[in-house]
Amino acid sequence: MQAHPYAVWLSLAALAAAIAAQVAWRRRRATAGRPLFGLLLASAVWAATYALTWINTDQADQVFWLNATYFGVVVIPLALLVFTLQYTGKGGWLTRRRLTLLAIQPILTFLVVWSNPLHHWFHASFLQMELGGYMVLGWTRGPWFWFNVVYSYGFLLVAFVLLVREMAQVPPGFRSQIRMIVIAFIWPWVASIITQFGLNPWPELDLTPIAFSLTGILMLYGLYFHRLLDLVPVARSQVLENMQDGVLVLDLQRRVVDMNPAAMAMLGVERQQALGQPVEAAFVHFPEALEIFVGKGTAQEVVCLSGNPDRYIDVRLSRLEDQAGRRLGYLVVGRDITDAHLREEELRKANQRLQGQFKEIQTLQVELREQAIRDPLTGLHNRRFLDEALLPIFETAVSNQQPVSMVMVDLDHFKNLNDEHGHHAGDLVLQQLAQLLMRFSRGGDVVCRYGGEEILAVLPGVGAEVAARRVEEWRAAWAGLMIEHAGQRLQNTFSAGVAAFPAHGDNSDDVLRAADRALYVAKDEGRNRVSVAGGERR
Ligand code: GH3
Ligand code: MG
Ligand code: MG
Repeated sequence: MQAHPYAVWLSLAALAAAIAAQVAWRRRRATAGRPLFGLLLASAVWAATYALTWINTDQADQVFWLNATYFGVVVIPLALLVFTLQYTGKGGWLTRRRLTLLAIQPILTFLVVWSNPLHHWFHASFLQMELGGYMVLGWTRGPWFWFNVVYSYGFLLVAFVLLVREMAQVPPGFRSQIRMIVIAFIWPWVASIITQFGLNPWPELDLTPIAFSLTGILMLYGLYFHRLLDLVPVARSQVLENMQDGVLVLDLQRRVVDMNPAAMAMLGVERQQALGQPVEAAFVHFPEALEIFVGKGTAQEVVCLSGNPDRYIDVRLSRLEDQAGRRLGYLVVGRDITDAHLREEELRKANQRLQGQFKEIQTLQVELREQAIRDPLTGLHNRRFLDEALLPIFETAVSNQQPVSMVMVDLDHFKNLNDEHGHHAGDLVLQQLAQLLMRFSRGGDVVCRYGGEEILAVLPGVGAEVAARRVEEWRAAWAGLMIEHAGQRLQNTFSAGVAAFPAHGDNSDDVLRAADRALYVAKDEGRNRVSVAGGERR
């Protein structure tokens, strides 16, 4: 055993890779998490076993541990390739069959390494030498060694090209993570070139296991601790490219950093035309829609993109910040809600129409009710209304202990008037009487056409005496009225019977009958007079 300083460095690299592997294992479910774990574990194994070759002094032990490094060595190129495929969203290409095919060469290499004494294809010869006071294992390379170098670096090259291509496709705002991973890829190349071309300042030390440990750690850092927008490019390319909502990413100067195909279709602009340009470039066809960006960091609005047909877009503008809360720019997401908007519009119109119709119906109902309770010829209330109105009038009268008078008015010799001047003249006279009675009536009075030329007036709160005096005024006014009809002057009189609650009856029917009887008395006594119901009730 010997305490070679290289063993200390390698052990540190192994420890770092092992810790990183543990972190990666916990996050293995994330995109490309498993191959990253494989890479880190293999790097740890490689560095650790390689450290043991430097600690041992016996050549056989040194050879054993050198061979043991291949537990890690053969895994790494494959792990890197798988990582890149998954990271760039091409994980689907990696079927079980293809993975098996890709694993053949590493397995063969592993077997060749361990069966080396039989054929010396890998290590052509071993030679122990003393270097700086330590026993160091030297070897010469066999053909399979070179085959493996070329093959492994082929994998690495493919992975590297995939990454760089992805980097070119990812818009600038998203590049920082992928840049990190590309940098991680460079170390093994540097280390290998130094080692293979004899530029190594540390004689005989293979730097690649340290480089790969560094690669894995950088990738881990890039993936989990340097996640811009918390979006891996895979998610971006697959989600953003295929989503139906238009997405526009703007930097703080409101320049277009990215737009997805849906946004291009909505705005009728190609990505190349708008990328890096002020946001106005994306909206060349719809300058009026730019209003949503005026002086706002966040907004939600429905914007109409006028065209044929018009389209309605629900636009949400929000700020983009990194995990530290630093502002990065703006995210604009537009959803085409034309269909829903038009439906809503139609619904609103239908609702308006309905409301209009409802108002019309209400007016008609009022009219209809008026018609139902009014007499069309005279405009006075009819008997239907009277029946409705009497109940509350008498209830109030009873509870307030107030009188109610009922007056039955009947035109005198109206039949003669009809016969002499015609029905038309009769109608006109009836209308005139109605107007006169309405003029003389007071609030609360009910005047209704009771029969052909009979009119009933109900005067709440008025006793028979007062009522009779008022009706006498009506009578006098009517008798003095001249009505012009067809060049002739008509004059007419009426007789009236007055009765009151409670003096002449304790309900409306009885009072009405008493008024009717009083009317007959008035007729009998010669007409054109007012008669009050005879005497007090028994
Ligand atoms: P009196 O009451 O003074 O005894 O005599 P009168 O001629 O008024 O008698 P009666 O009550 O028998 O006649 C009522 C007449 O009123 C009969 C009908 O021709 C007339 N009349 C009823 N309704 C209307 C109407 O709406 N228009 C017209 N023009 N006449 C009507
Ligand atoms: Mg009459
Ligand atoms: Mg009559």
